[in-house]
Amino acid sequence: VSAEIYKNKKVKGRCPKCGSKSFTITETFEEHVLVEIVDGVHPGEILDHEAGSILGVSCQCAQCRHTWKPRGVFQIDDMILEG
Ligand SMILES: [Zn+2]
Repeated sequence: VSAEIYKNKKVKGRCPKCGSKSFTITETFEEHVLVEIVDGVHPGEILDHEAGSILGVSCQCAQCRHTWKPRGVFQIDDMILEG
């Protein structure tokens, strides 16, 4: 999965426990799963699935494994520093 627009951009935030600036960001979305029922019969497969609304962002430190929710951040974009 590409996130080319963010390549080499600085990301704000650090582990509140150890201060590390290396961490995993998890962006969590609702997922819509579409199943097309024909004449009342399930086809046995999914037609499509797509991301719905964003539910939130959490982080896990690469160094001490501490997890936290960055304040004021609703999506990864909020953590990207411009310039
Ligand atoms: Zn840490």
